[in-house]
Amino acid sequence: MADIDATRGTNPDAPHDVLGPVRAFDDERPPRAELVADCVHCGFCLTTCPTYVLWGEEMDSPRGRIHLMGQGLSGEPLSDSMVEHFDNCLGCMSCVTACPSGVQYDRLIEDTRGQIERRHPRTPKDRALRKAIFALFPYPRRLRLLRGPLRAYQATGLQRLVARTGLLNRLGPTLSTLESLAPRLRSVPKPPKLVRARTPRRAVVGMLTGCVQSAFFPEVNSATVRILAAEGCDVVLPPGQGCCGALSVHNGRTDEAQRFARRLIDTFENSGMDYFVVNAAGCGSSLKEYGELLAGDEAYEARAQQFAAKVRDLSELLTELGPVATRHPLPVTIAYHDACHLAHAQGVRAQPRALLNGIPGLELREIADPEICCGSAGIWNVLHPEPAAELGDRKARTVLATGAELLVTANPGCLMQVAAALRRQGASIALAHTAQVLDASIRNLGAESLTH
Ligand code: SF4
Ligand code: SF4
Repeated sequence: MADIDATRGTNPDAPHDVLGPVRAFDDERPPRAELVADCVHCGFCLTTCPTYVLWGEEMDSPRGRIHLMGQGLSGEPLSDSMVEHFDNCLGCMSCVTACPSGVQYDRLIEDTRGQIERRHPRTPKDRALRKAIFALFPYPRRLRLLRGPLRAYQATGLQRLVARTGLLNRLGPTLSTLESLAPRLRSVPKPPKLVRARTPRRAVVGMLTGCVQSAFFPEVNSATVRILAAEGCDVVLPPGQGCCGALSVHNGRTDEAQRFARRLIDTFENSGMDYFVVNAAGCGSSLKEYGELLAGDEAYEARAQQFAAKVRDLSELLTELGPVATRHPLPVTIAYHDACHLAHAQGVRAQPRALLNGIPGLELREIADPEICCGSAGIWNVLHPEPAAELGDRKARTVLATGAELLVTANPGCLMQVAAALRRQGASIALAHTAQVLDASIRNLGAESLTH
């Protein structure tokens, strides 16, 4: 077994110089000391933190992680164990909304992750996994190439056979998680570059088609476009718009996120859009922070701020505009799941509920412990498959306890995560994005279109 140096952990490559171990953080966007100092250690955030709920470890709580950041700022080196506690954070931001002192943990963890990714050498296995994830997930075209083989795998019965043999479990929890997350794929034609409003025009809207959303949930994008057109919006959808950078920024890959952000700003800058609409919660929260992401970039900072000011979650925009399209009855009971990056990071809770409650015949039921993450958290469930499955199972149980016929949420990651957990429990409940429910009501498709 390798010797463990108290200051360097087990990592022999940790930054070190002749004067001893190197400080945890350098001067390039370290977590800010004044934000760390805002934490008064009251502990109000603890019970809302999924990792603290799972393990009861102080260092896997928001307060513990902020304490570690403080240690790093006071000159401690970035040890393996410190990195592990930061890596364990889902970035769900439940602690941000729970904190009575207004601690900006979101800023703190984002800057800390940037430092880790630049300065902490990871193990070869971890490096390889992250490299593979980031060579695939932020690239919609590459993801779409997976659709064919995945559909064949699902359609031929091979998926059921592999599940029965437990082969993937033996090969590794990460592989098994990826397989279990894959949604049932449907074929949907690609939306055109411009879709005109179907009623007198009220706004021009740029729309993010996304990476996972466009590859695995194209029906959600189609429903979003139809709703916007029905509500009097011209919808602009430039092809090749690429990734918004959310996955990269949430994982400390700041340079990569900035590249994606600049490209997206360039793509939409001359579109004449009044708003930029997003139907994936994780993307929306990052897009609203483009100003901070590109702060200090002379060519882009002001443009990023202007862009960010136009960003709206679909439910926010529809609430702002007010309905014009007729809502037809949908007699269905719904459990609405708050995606963390919508509820905690963007503070959008009331708008989706108002939209759903505006549908005649629909009954909305609340899920217990709504502040606890389902365990999806971007790629957290791929990097931490076992605790993610535990969180998914907890969420699935609370969803089933509502007795609802349909689970509705506004993030593709949550849909995949909860669906996988429900399958593990042998349970069946239909799942849909908020956009699909609204679309079914506007088009008068009936509740069966969502539940069968
Ligand atoms: S972001 Fe979520 S997982 Fe991370 S410390 Fe806050 S509550 Fe815990
Ligand atoms: S982060 Fe906020 S809620 Fe949590 S211990 Fe610090 S001050 Fe209290």
